[in-house]
Amino acid sequence: MNIAELLGALGVDAAASAGPDLTVRSPIDGGRIAQLREHSAAQANAAIDAAHGAFLAWRQVPAARRGELVRLLGDELRANKQALGRLVSVEAGKILAEGAGEVQEMIDICDFAVGLSRQLYGLTIASERPGHRMMETWHPLGVVGVISAFNFPVAVWSWNTALAIVCGDAVVWKPSEKTPLAALACQALFERALKKFGDAPEGLSQVLIGGREIGQALADHHRVALLSATGSTRMGREVGPRVAARFGRSLLELGGNNAIIVAPSADLDMAARGILFGAVGTAGQRCTSTRRLIVHRSVAGDLLARLEKAYAGARIGNPLDAETLVGPLIDRVAFDGMQAALRQARAEGGKVSGGERRLAGQYPEAWYVAPALVEMPAQTEVVRHETFAPILYVMRYDDFAGALRLQNEVPQGLSSAVFTNDLREAEWFMSASGSDCGIANVNIGTSGAEIGGAFGGEKETGGGRESGSDAWKAYMRRATNTVNYSRELPLAQGIQFGGQP
Ligand code: NAD
Repeated sequence: MNIAELLGALGVDAAASAGPDLTVRSPIDGGRIAQLREHSAAQANAAIDAAHGAFLAWRQVPAARRGELVRLLGDELRANKQALGRLVSVEAGKILAEGAGEVQEMIDICDFAVGLSRQLYGLTIASERPGHRMMETWHPLGVVGVISAFNFPVAVWSWNTALAIVCGDAVVWKPSEKTPLAALACQALFERALKKFGDAPEGLSQVLIGGREIGQALADHHRVALLSATGSTRMGREVGPRVAARFGRSLLELGGNNAIIVAPSADLDMAARGILFGAVGTAGQRCTSTRRLIVHRSVAGDLLARLEKAYAGARIGNPLDAETLVGPLIDRVAFDGMQAALRQARAEGGKVSGGERRLAGQYPEAWYVAPALVEMPAQTEVVRHETFAPILYVMRYDDFAGALRLQNEVPQGLSSAVFTNDLREAEWFMSASGSDCGIANVNIGTSGAEIGGAFGGEKETGGGRESGSDAWKAYMRRATNTVNYSRELPLAQGIQFGGQP
């Protein structure tokens, strides 16, 4: 299927979005796959106003009925899993299994949200006053703005949208300018679901094509009650204060610098497999990619030998070929960033293997690389920085407290893991004095989260939580209600205010 057929199958009206502004290229060969019109800031503001109008109607629809729309969206995603997954592969360069896996994640969050639509519970709280009842109720919040990164071009939208829709909100999405076609496809599938649903208000879910100016319009608009922004820490630094300046809410999902600790008791075979998937999967372009390996000195030689063998066998190539494990980097900027980091690592005492460009003859306009293993003498400056490419820095440790210190002494706090069969180490890792990340795993790697848990991280990762658990609460406003069913008017804290009339 070529790109036009793929878009057609997914219901995208390519002609309606065509224009001179944005050239979309596939990282597979660097070839142009579309030419799109961008939205202006004025159009973005109009879309947000329309979404607010939709919100005013949608918030009145019972939550279980709102869930029905998400159920229909899930049906569309099931029916189009392979096509949408393939589009993700073509536009973002992921291997087919990961493209389809990303769509499966969308289906899973839809299922979760449908169940949630019947479980938006509040609390009843004991009142200190006689004849009173207190409770907590949850209400729709407003317009949810979504800014997303290129590397999860569809799942991040669905994590936000499935929850926002059942919570009674409207959504305006600005996808990455590197992956707008996948966004147009999601919107087309959403519109099919809307048609089957029947009576949803106009403007409930919209997509804005464009770069950071459109993201800034979302950040600045007073009607965007929550801005959920996924991308680099640099982006979060710009967006967070803008939203805060108007007292809006933001949910930030930013960069990671994820480590795996491998202890002497670890199952090294399992550890090597977990590290390989984490470090070279998606060509190192996941927020949860494994970027640091902290290995006990006694097992370092054995583990590194296994990793070198696994790296040598990881097939690099066109992500649409079934045997490929490592696809291309997104673009030349990513390649240059990787090479600069490797130069810096060498200058800081690192021993680099791999990292060179591959397949340049076959794909002169694309950026394939051999994943790099870099043995570092210490956690130097370059190791503390997120380079969005397949570089794994390896450091050795002598005692577990030292390993934890290394793990935590970076500015980011997204994902972390330990491979150990020592119960004390495993529990310590997950305790208050253990990993300081939002995700702390035992005997599995750092990447590949399930939707049932809350996803996100601490420190420069931004503190946001999306997806499962009680992350839905970010998409609603909470009201505390106190009801007096007595004939008296006692004040809280026993305060006497003047005489009784
Ligand atoms: P990026 O920061 O370059 O862009 C992300 C999005 O932000 C894009 O849509 C972009 O147009 C927009 N943007 C950029 N600057 C902006 C500004 N000043 N105002 C408003 N919008 C702006 O990131 P990327 O290269 O697309 O993605 C890679 C980064 O995203 C990595 O750092 C990765 O760790 C991070 N990421 C984090 C998570 C997470 O859940 N924590 C998930 C995926 C990716």
